Amino acid sequence: MKIAFYSTKPYDKIYFEPMSKDYDIDIHFFEVPCCEETILLTKGYDALCIFVNDYLNEKMVHQLAEFGVKVILLRCAGFNNVDIKAAAQCEIPVLRVPSYSPEAVAEFAMALLLTVNRYTHRAYTRTRDFNMNINGFMGTDLHGKTAGVIGTGRIGQAMINILKGFGMKIVAYDPYPNNRLDVEYVSIETAFQKSDVITLHCPLTPETKHIVQAKTIELMKEDVYLINTSRGDLIRTEDLIEGLLNKKFAGVALDVYDEEGGVFYEDRSNDIIYDQNLARLATFPNVLITSHMGFFTKEAVRAIAEVTLANADAVQKGLPLENIVLPPNDAD
Ligand code: NAD
Repeated sequence: MKIAFYSTKPYDKIYFEPMSKDYDIDIHFFEVPCCEETILLTKGYDALCIFVNDYLNEKMVHQLAEFGVKVILLRCAGFNNVDIKAAAQCEIPVLRVPSYSPEAVAEFAMALLLTVNRYTHRAYTRTRDFNMNINGFMGTDLHGKTAGVIGTGRIGQAMINILKGFGMKIVAYDPYPNNRLDVEYVSIETAFQKSDVITLHCPLTPETKHIVQAKTIELMKEDVYLINTSRGDLIRTEDLIEGLLNKKFAGVALDVYDEEGGVFYEDRSNDIIYDQNLARLATFPNVLITSHMGFFTKEAVRAIAEVTLANADAVQKGLPLENIVLPPNDAD
Protein backbone atom coordinates (compact mmCIF):
# COMPACT_ATOMS: atom_id res chain seq x y z
CA MET A 1 0.00 0.00 0.00
CA LYS A 2 1.20 3.49 -0.91
CA ILE A 3 0.15 6.29 1.43
CA ALA A 4 0.22 10.04 0.76
CA PHE A 5 0.95 11.51 4.21
CA TYR A 6 -0.04 15.18 4.56
CA SER A 7 1.10 17.92 6.98
CA THR A 8 4.25 16.02 7.91
CA LYS A 9 6.33 17.33 10.80
CA PRO A 10 9.68 15.83 11.86
CA TYR A 11 8.09 14.09 14.85
CA ASP A 12 5.63 12.21 12.61
CA LYS A 13 8.50 10.27 11.03
CA ILE A 14 9.91 9.05 14.36
CA TYR A 15 7.39 6.22 14.63
CA PHE A 16 5.66 6.08 11.23
CA GLU A 17 8.88 5.57 9.23
CA PRO A 18 10.23 2.46 11.02
CA MET A 19 6.81 0.94 11.73
CA SER A 20 5.63 1.24 8.11
CA LYS A 21 8.43 -1.16 7.07
CA ASP A 22 6.99 -3.83 9.39
CA TYR A 23 3.69 -3.57 7.53
CA ASP A 24 5.24 -3.39 4.06
CA ILE A 25 3.62 0.00 3.60
CA ASP A 26 5.24 2.73 1.53
CA ILE A 27 4.67 6.26 2.90
CA HIS A 28 5.40 9.43 0.99
CA PHE A 29 5.68 12.30 3.48
CA PHE A 30 4.35 15.62 2.16
CA GLU A 31 4.83 18.73 4.28
CA VAL A 32 1.88 20.55 2.72
CA PRO A 33 -1.54 20.37 4.34
CA CYS A 34 -4.38 18.50 2.70
CA CYS A 35 -6.67 21.08 1.09
CA GLU A 36 -8.30 21.73 -2.30
CA GLU A 37 -5.01 23.03 -3.71
CA THR A 38 -2.99 19.94 -2.74
CA ILE A 39 -5.45 17.07 -3.13
CA LEU A 40 -4.01 16.24 -6.59
CA LEU A 41 -0.90 14.91 -4.86
CA THR A 42 -2.97 11.90 -3.80
CA LYS A 43 -3.23 10.67 -7.41
CA GLY A 44 -1.48 7.31 -7.71
CA TYR A 45 -1.70 6.51 -3.99
CA ASP A 46 -3.91 3.87 -2.36
CA ALA A 47 -4.53 5.94 0.74
CA LEU A 48 -4.03 9.33 2.28
CA CYS A 49 -3.23 10.08 5.89
CA ILE A 50 -4.34 13.41 7.35
CA PHE A 51 -4.28 15.28 10.66
CA VAL A 52 -6.52 17.68 12.61
CA ASN A 53 -6.11 20.81 10.48
CA ASP A 54 -6.28 19.05 7.13
CA TYR A 55 -9.72 18.81 5.58
CA LEU A 56 -11.64 16.80 3.00
CA ASN A 57 -14.83 18.38 1.71
CA GLU A 58 -17.39 16.71 -0.58
CA LYS A 59 -15.66 17.82 -3.79
CA MET A 60 -12.29 16.51 -2.60
CA VAL A 61 -13.76 13.17 -1.51
CA HIS A 62 -15.21 12.72 -5.02
CA GLN A 63 -11.78 13.51 -6.47
CA LEU A 64 -10.29 10.80 -4.24
CA ALA A 65 -12.86 8.34 -5.61
CA GLU A 66 -11.81 9.26 -9.17
CA PHE A 67 -8.15 8.68 -8.25
CA GLY A 68 -9.05 5.21 -6.93
CA VAL A 69 -8.06 5.98 -3.34
CA LYS A 70 -9.12 3.03 -1.16
CA VAL A 71 -9.05 4.51 2.33
CA ILE A 72 -8.88 7.81 4.23
CA LEU A 73 -6.67 7.44 7.30
CA LEU A 74 -7.09 9.98 10.10
CA ARG A 75 -4.14 10.04 12.48
CA CYS A 76 -6.35 11.62 15.15
CA ALA A 77 -9.59 10.95 17.03
CA GLY A 78 -11.74 13.87 15.80
CA PHE A 79 -13.33 13.58 12.33
CA ASN A 80 -15.24 16.88 12.05
CA ASN A 81 -12.84 17.93 9.25
CA VAL A 82 -13.94 15.19 6.82
CA ASP A 83 -17.22 14.93 4.86
CA ILE A 84 -18.09 11.49 6.22
CA LYS A 85 -21.34 11.29 4.26
CA ALA A 86 -19.57 11.91 0.95
CA ALA A 87 -16.95 9.29 1.83
CA ALA A 88 -19.69 6.73 2.54
CA GLN A 89 -21.39 7.57 -0.78
CA CYS A 90 -18.08 7.03 -2.57
CA GLU A 91 -17.52 3.83 -0.55
CA ILE A 92 -14.19 5.07 0.79
CA PRO A 93 -13.82 3.97 4.42
CA VAL A 94 -12.65 6.63 6.87
CA LEU A 95 -10.55 5.09 9.64
CA ARG A 96 -9.46 7.00 12.72
CA VAL A 97 -7.54 6.51 15.95
CA PRO A 98 -10.37 6.64 18.49
CA SER A 99 -8.16 6.52 21.53
CA TYR A 100 -4.41 6.76 21.88
CA SER A 101 -3.73 8.26 25.28
CA PRO A 102 -6.65 10.02 26.93
CA GLU A 103 -4.31 10.67 29.87
CA ALA A 104 -1.99 12.68 27.61
CA VAL A 105 -4.76 15.18 26.83
CA ALA A 106 -6.22 15.20 30.35
CA GLU A 107 -2.79 15.75 31.93
CA PHE A 108 -2.23 18.60 29.50
CA ALA A 109 -5.63 20.14 30.34
CA MET A 110 -4.61 20.05 34.01
CA ALA A 111 -1.23 21.58 33.17
CA LEU A 112 -3.07 24.43 31.43
CA LEU A 113 -5.34 24.96 34.42
CA LEU A 114 -2.42 25.00 36.86
CA THR A 115 -0.45 27.34 34.62
CA VAL A 116 -3.17 29.86 33.96
CA ASN A 117 -4.20 29.79 37.63
CA ARG A 118 -0.72 30.14 39.15
CA TYR A 119 1.02 32.06 36.32
CA THR A 120 4.02 29.73 36.18
CA HIS A 121 4.58 30.65 32.52
CA ARG A 122 4.89 34.32 33.36
CA ALA A 123 6.89 33.70 36.56
CA TYR A 124 9.42 31.78 34.45
CA THR A 125 10.08 34.72 32.15
CA ARG A 126 10.18 37.21 35.04
CA THR A 127 12.75 35.30 37.07
CA ARG A 128 14.98 34.72 34.04
CA ASP A 129 15.11 38.49 33.81
CA PHE A 130 15.82 38.69 37.56
CA ASN A 131 12.49 40.36 38.11
CA MET A 132 11.52 38.56 41.32
CA ASN A 133 8.35 40.57 41.88
CA ILE A 134 5.28 38.32 42.31
CA ASN A 135 2.76 41.11 41.89
CA GLY A 136 -0.21 40.04 39.72
CA PHE A 137 0.43 36.32 40.15
CA MET A 138 -2.07 35.55 42.93
CA GLY A 139 -3.95 32.35 42.11
CA THR A 140 -6.70 30.39 43.79
CA ASP A 141 -6.76 27.02 45.61
CA LEU A 142 -8.31 24.31 43.48
CA HIS A 143 -8.92 22.09 46.51
CA GLY A 144 -12.60 22.20 47.49
CA LYS A 145 -13.67 24.05 44.33
CA THR A 146 -16.10 22.67 41.75
CA ALA A 147 -15.04 21.52 38.29
CA GLY A 148 -17.60 21.15 35.51
CA VAL A 149 -16.59 18.46 33.02
CA ILE A 150 -18.44 18.73 29.70
CA GLY A 151 -18.18 15.36 27.98
CA THR A 152 -17.32 12.31 30.07
CA GLY A 153 -15.81 10.06 27.43
CA ARG A 154 -12.25 8.80 27.55
CA ILE A 155 -10.51 12.15 28.09
CA GLY A 156 -13.28 13.52 30.34
CA GLN A 157 -12.95 10.47 32.60
CA ALA A 158 -9.16 10.80 32.80
CA MET A 159 -9.64 14.47 33.66
CA ILE A 160 -12.19 13.62 36.38
CA ASN A 161 -9.64 11.32 38.04
CA ILE A 162 -7.02 14.06 38.00
CA LEU A 163 -9.42 16.72 39.29
CA LYS A 164 -10.52 14.40 42.11
CA GLY A 165 -6.87 13.94 43.02
CA PHE A 166 -6.73 17.70 43.54
CA GLY A 167 -9.66 17.48 45.96
CA MET A 168 -12.13 19.12 43.61
CA LYS A 169 -15.87 18.42 43.53
CA ILE A 170 -17.09 17.33 40.11
CA VAL A 171 -20.27 18.08 38.23
CA ALA A 172 -20.59 16.66 34.74
CA TYR A 173 -22.70 17.02 31.65
CA ASP A 174 -22.95 14.43 28.89
CA PRO A 175 -26.07 13.53 26.86
CA TYR A 176 -25.00 9.90 27.37
CA PRO A 177 -24.19 9.72 31.10
CA ASN A 178 -21.93 6.91 32.24
CA ASN A 179 -23.55 5.34 35.30
CA ARG A 180 -20.31 3.64 36.29
CA LEU A 181 -18.70 7.01 37.00
CA ASP A 182 -18.84 8.39 40.51
CA VAL A 183 -19.85 11.93 39.46
CA GLU A 184 -22.95 14.07 39.73
CA TYR A 185 -24.50 14.52 36.29
CA VAL A 186 -26.35 17.81 35.88
CA SER A 187 -27.78 19.79 32.99
CA ILE A 188 -25.28 21.78 30.94
CA GLU A 189 -26.79 24.99 32.33
CA THR A 190 -26.26 23.82 35.92
CA ALA A 191 -22.72 22.71 35.09
CA PHE A 192 -21.97 26.19 33.78
CA GLN A 193 -23.67 27.85 36.78
CA LYS A 194 -22.04 25.78 39.53
CA SER A 195 -18.47 25.44 38.31
CA ASP A 196 -15.36 27.33 39.31
CA VAL A 197 -13.50 25.53 36.52
CA ILE A 198 -15.12 24.43 33.24
CA THR A 199 -13.24 21.95 31.09
CA LEU A 200 -14.50 20.90 27.65
CA HIS A 201 -14.09 17.26 26.57
CA CYS A 202 -16.86 16.71 24.02
CA PRO A 203 -16.43 16.32 20.26
CA LEU A 204 -17.33 19.06 17.79
CA THR A 205 -20.78 18.29 16.36
CA PRO A 206 -23.65 20.50 15.16
CA GLU A 207 -25.02 20.26 18.75
CA THR A 208 -21.78 21.25 20.48
CA LYS A 209 -20.74 24.06 18.11
CA HIS A 210 -20.58 27.28 20.19
CA ILE A 211 -21.75 25.67 23.44
CA VAL A 212 -19.73 28.46 24.98
CA GLN A 213 -21.29 31.70 23.72
CA ALA A 214 -22.69 34.93 25.16
CA LYS A 215 -25.81 33.25 26.59
CA THR A 216 -23.91 30.44 28.31
CA ILE A 217 -21.07 32.71 29.46
CA GLU A 218 -23.77 34.76 31.18
CA LEU A 219 -24.66 31.67 33.26
CA MET A 220 -21.12 31.15 34.49
CA LYS A 221 -19.75 32.29 37.85
CA GLU A 222 -17.66 35.43 38.02
CA ASP A 223 -13.94 34.54 37.97
CA VAL A 224 -14.50 31.17 36.32
CA TYR A 225 -11.64 29.27 34.65
CA LEU A 226 -12.34 27.88 31.17
CA ILE A 227 -10.15 25.18 29.64
CA ASN A 228 -10.62 23.96 26.06
CA THR A 229 -8.52 21.07 24.79
CA SER A 230 -11.25 19.69 22.48
CA ARG A 231 -12.08 21.75 19.39
CA GLY A 232 -11.96 25.50 18.80
CA ASP A 233 -15.49 25.76 17.45
CA LEU A 234 -16.97 24.72 20.80
CA ILE A 235 -16.42 28.37 21.73
CA ARG A 236 -17.74 31.45 19.93
CA THR A 237 -14.52 33.43 20.06
CA GLU A 238 -16.09 36.89 19.72
CA ASP A 239 -18.25 36.18 22.79
CA LEU A 240 -15.27 34.82 24.72
CA ILE A 241 -13.35 38.03 24.01
CA GLU A 242 -16.36 40.08 25.15
CA GLY A 243 -16.47 38.01 28.37
CA LEU A 244 -12.75 38.57 28.91
CA LEU A 245 -13.17 42.32 28.38
CA ASN A 246 -15.99 42.25 30.97
CA LYS A 247 -13.59 40.49 33.41
CA LYS A 248 -15.83 37.42 33.62
CA PHE A 249 -12.93 34.97 33.55
CA ALA A 250 -10.15 34.45 36.06
CA GLY A 251 -8.34 32.51 33.37
CA VAL A 252 -8.84 30.96 29.96
CA ALA A 253 -6.61 28.27 28.47
CA LEU A 254 -7.02 27.22 24.87
CA ASP A 255 -5.18 24.36 23.21
CA VAL A 256 -7.50 24.68 20.24
CA TYR A 257 -8.92 27.64 18.34
CA ASP A 258 -11.67 27.89 15.72
CA GLU A 259 -9.36 29.39 13.07
CA GLU A 260 -6.26 27.39 14.00
CA GLY A 261 -5.73 25.87 10.53
CA GLY A 262 -2.67 27.33 8.80
CA VAL A 263 -1.43 28.97 12.03
CA PHE A 264 -1.16 26.23 14.65
CA TYR A 265 1.83 23.90 14.12
CA GLU A 266 3.55 26.60 12.01
CA ASP A 267 6.19 29.20 12.83
CA ARG A 268 4.49 32.53 12.14
CA SER A 269 6.83 34.56 14.35
CA ASN A 270 8.01 36.70 11.42
CA ASP A 271 4.57 37.16 9.88
CA ILE A 272 1.88 39.78 10.28
CA ILE A 273 -1.06 38.15 12.08
CA TYR A 274 -4.24 39.18 10.29
CA ASP A 275 -6.54 37.16 12.56
CA GLN A 276 -7.84 39.94 14.81
CA ASN A 277 -9.42 37.53 17.31
CA LEU A 278 -6.28 35.48 17.78
CA ALA A 279 -4.18 38.63 18.10
CA ARG A 280 -6.66 40.03 20.66
CA LEU A 281 -6.75 36.81 22.67
CA ALA A 282 -2.96 36.74 22.85
CA THR A 283 -2.93 40.15 24.56
CA PHE A 284 -4.93 39.15 27.66
CA PRO A 285 -2.68 38.49 30.67
CA ASN A 286 -5.03 35.71 31.86
CA VAL A 287 -5.27 33.84 28.55
CA LEU A 288 -2.93 31.00 27.71
CA ILE A 289 -2.86 29.65 24.16
CA THR A 290 -1.05 26.50 23.11
CA SER A 291 -0.83 25.01 19.65
CA HIS A 292 -3.12 21.93 19.75
CA MET A 293 -0.53 19.83 21.54
CA GLY A 294 -2.57 18.03 24.20
CA PHE A 295 -1.87 14.73 22.44
CA PHE A 296 1.87 15.31 22.22
CA THR A 297 3.54 12.66 24.36
CA LYS A 298 5.81 9.81 23.22
CA GLU A 299 3.22 7.26 24.23
CA ALA A 300 0.40 8.96 22.34
CA VAL A 301 2.42 9.64 19.18
CA ARG A 302 3.62 6.03 19.11
CA ALA A 303 0.07 4.74 19.62
CA ILE A 304 -1.20 7.01 16.82
CA ALA A 305 1.33 5.47 14.41
CA GLU A 306 0.55 1.91 15.56
CA VAL A 307 -3.22 2.25 15.17
CA THR A 308 -3.08 4.22 11.90
CA LEU A 309 -0.82 1.60 10.31
CA ALA A 310 -2.91 -1.27 11.69
CA ASN A 311 -5.95 0.47 10.14
CA ALA A 312 -4.17 0.65 6.78
CA ASP A 313 -3.04 -2.97 7.08
CA ALA A 314 -6.62 -4.12 7.74
CA VAL A 315 -7.63 -2.54 4.42
CA GLN A 316 -4.75 -4.10 2.47
CA LYS A 317 -5.46 -7.53 3.99
CA GLY A 318 -9.28 -7.27 3.72
CA LEU A 319 -9.71 -7.62 7.50
CA PRO A 320 -12.64 -6.13 9.49
CA LEU A 321 -12.33 -2.36 9.86
CA GLU A 322 -12.54 -1.74 13.61
CA ASN A 323 -12.01 1.98 13.60
CA ILE A 324 -14.34 3.00 10.81
CA VAL A 325 -16.22 6.31 11.14
CA LEU A 326 -19.84 5.94 10.03
CA PRO A 327 -22.06 8.79 8.81
CA PRO A 328 -24.42 10.13 11.54
CA ASN A 329 -27.55 8.07 10.63
CA ASP A 330 -25.65 4.80 10.41
CA ALA A 331 -23.78 5.54 13.66
CA ASP A 332 -26.99 6.09 15.68
P1 NAD B 1 -14.92 10.27 23.47
O1 NAD B 1 -15.68 9.95 22.22
O2 NAD B 1 -14.33 9.16 24.27
O3 NAD B 1 -15.85 11.13 24.45
C1 NAD B 1 -16.61 12.22 24.02
C2 NAD B 1 -17.78 12.36 24.99
O4 NAD B 1 -18.49 13.54 24.64
C3 NAD B 1 -18.76 11.18 24.94
O5 NAD B 1 -19.00 10.68 26.24
C4 NAD B 1 -20.02 11.81 24.34
O6 NAD B 1 -21.22 11.22 24.83
C5 NAD B 1 -19.87 13.25 24.80
N1 NAD B 1 -20.73 14.17 24.08
C6 NAD B 1 -21.29 14.03 22.85
N2 NAD B 1 -22.09 15.09 22.59
C7 NAD B 1 -22.02 15.90 23.68
C8 NAD B 1 -22.64 17.13 24.02
N3 NAD B 1 -23.52 17.72 23.21
N4 NAD B 1 -22.34 17.69 25.22
C9 NAD B 1 -21.48 17.08 26.08
N5 NAD B 1 -20.88 15.90 25.82
C10 NAD B 1 -21.14 15.33 24.63
O7 NAD B 1 -13.81 11.30 23.01
P2 NAD B 1 -12.44 11.66 23.78
O8 NAD B 1 -11.38 10.69 23.36
O9 NAD B 1 -12.71 11.84 25.21
O10 NAD B 1 -12.07 13.05 23.09
C11 NAD B 1 -12.84 14.20 23.31
C12 NAD B 1 -12.41 15.27 22.32
O11 NAD B 1 -11.07 15.70 22.62
C13 NAD B 1 -12.29 14.79 20.86
O12 NAD B 1 -13.53 14.84 20.19
C14 NAD B 1 -11.32 15.76 20.26
O13 NAD B 1 -12.04 16.86 19.72
C15 NAD B 1 -10.50 16.25 21.46
N6 NAD B 1 -9.09 15.84 21.40
C16 NAD B 1 -8.14 16.82 21.51
C17 NAD B 1 -6.79 16.48 21.50
C18 NAD B 1 -5.71 17.53 21.67
O14 NAD B 1 -4.55 17.27 21.31
N7 NAD B 1 -6.01 18.71 22.20
C19 NAD B 1 -6.42 15.14 21.34
C20 NAD B 1 -7.41 14.17 21.25
C21 NAD B 1 -8.75 14.53 21.27
